[in-house]
Amino acid sequence: MALIVHKYGGTSMGSTERIANVAKRVAKWARAGHRMVVVPSAMSGETNRLLGLAKELAPGKLTPDYYRELDMLASTGEQVSVGLLSIALQAQGMPAVSYAGWQVPIRTSNAYTKARIDSIDDQRVRADLDAGKVVIITGFQGVDDEGHITTLGRGGSDTSAVAVAAALGADECMIYTDVDGVYTTDPRVVPEARRMARISFEEMLEMASLGSKVLQIRSVEFAGKYKVPLRVLSSFTPWDIDLIEEAQSGTLITFEENEQMEQAIVSGIAFNRDEAKISVLGVPDKPGIAYQILGAVADANVEVDVIIQNVSKDGKTDFSFTVHHNDYAKTVDLLKDKVVPQLGAAEVVGDPRICKVSIVGIGMRSHVGVASKMFRVLSEEGINIQMISTSEIKTSVVIDEKYMELAVRALHRAFDLDQPAAAA
Ligand code: ADP
Ligand code: ASP
Ligand code: MG
Repeated sequence: MALIVHKYGGTSMGSTERIANVAKRVAKWARAGHRMVVVPSAMSGETNRLLGLAKELAPGKLTPDYYRELDMLASTGEQVSVGLLSIALQAQGMPAVSYAGWQVPIRTSNAYTKARIDSIDDQRVRADLDAGKVVIITGFQGVDDEGHITTLGRGGSDTSAVAVAAALGADECMIYTDVDGVYTTDPRVVPEARRMARISFEEMLEMASLGSKVLQIRSVEFAGKYKVPLRVLSSFTPWDIDLIEEAQSGTLITFEENEQMEQAIVSGIAFNRDEAKISVLGVPDKPGIAYQILGAVADANVEVDVIIQNVSKDGKTDFSFTVHHNDYAKTVDLLKDKVVPQLGAAEVVGDPRICKVSIVGIGMRSHVGVASKMFRVLSEEGINIQMISTSEIKTSVVIDEKYMELAVRALHRAFDLDQPAAAA
């Protein structure tokens, strides 16, 4: 008998019919003797719908008070889901109880719309499990120290599920979604992408942080910190599929790296269209410049990703970096108003139509020439590289957004990811 956490994403909870199916699947696991905790997302499209309503009433509002209400609003999608799922389980004769984040409680920071989980009280959940109930907990939401409802950022139900699994010391956290595992790249962009039976935790962390939205990055961080066994699998298999077969399906995120994994030099390709590039032109090339630019950006709570500073010509240089789309306008304004006059720089130019494409693989540690092969493949396709960033197990390039699919497909082919051997 194991303690298992199931997480179901929006599409998996998309209609009453699908919720009834989720209930049958969960009941099957519970009847097999497992202690079950379920963390569902809002029904598909619901979070977008709710945020859209807020935008209609207050376009462009940016006050902390507004974000508090936004979380109050957005969190309701998950409350609907837990209620419906509990009703569906009870209708099938399976005792179940649902909780909102604040009832558990799942305690978070007070950073509305991007709160971090601080702690989870497991008492109430354990008591219900001991009483033989399936416990259903809202994804995506928590409560801060003053009792305000918070949310964890888009895709945050993954993080709720893994954090609940960590708090309960669950045997496994199973992330049910609309694909049957983690692929070499997004199968919606490259139909030849292959499912990996296993992926190392480090690679999954890079894939998620570089834009693969199959798992929210914080959920992978949690899994790493608390060593939670994590699996991504499909909710679209028949609910009565053999339990052992189901338990071994999908992709396991593993903490053990084996030789076969290192042989695959590149394991996956991630891409991210959510960033924009900003360049400060004609900056005097002297000590302290990076700090003056990026310090001001950091003070405005904007996260910076890829950074590049060109060599100076006539004592002047250009300084470029990328930020999230949502922070683009704010950052350009800040630089124009404060930093450019202070520095005596020439001007600020921005390009929101870029994308970052990354190759990821633990095999890159022990192989040379991987990055140069990437650059060759892109040059053969006539794609200009605007920025480059590397780490031990990844190389990222920033390119024009319109070449994204072309770049991802060409790299996927060049690194043999469409070949059967690529999937471990
Ligand atoms: P859920 O609603 O279940 O949380 P998401 O839409 O958040 O589902 O995540 C699943 C989606 O992630 C898939 O439909 C797929 O398009 C996308 N995706 C991106 N990269 C990958 C990848 N490497 N492997 C599998 N899916 C990926
Ligand atoms: N419902 C939230 C969202 O759409 C959280 C999630 O689905 O993980 O972002
Ligand atoms: Mg998701």
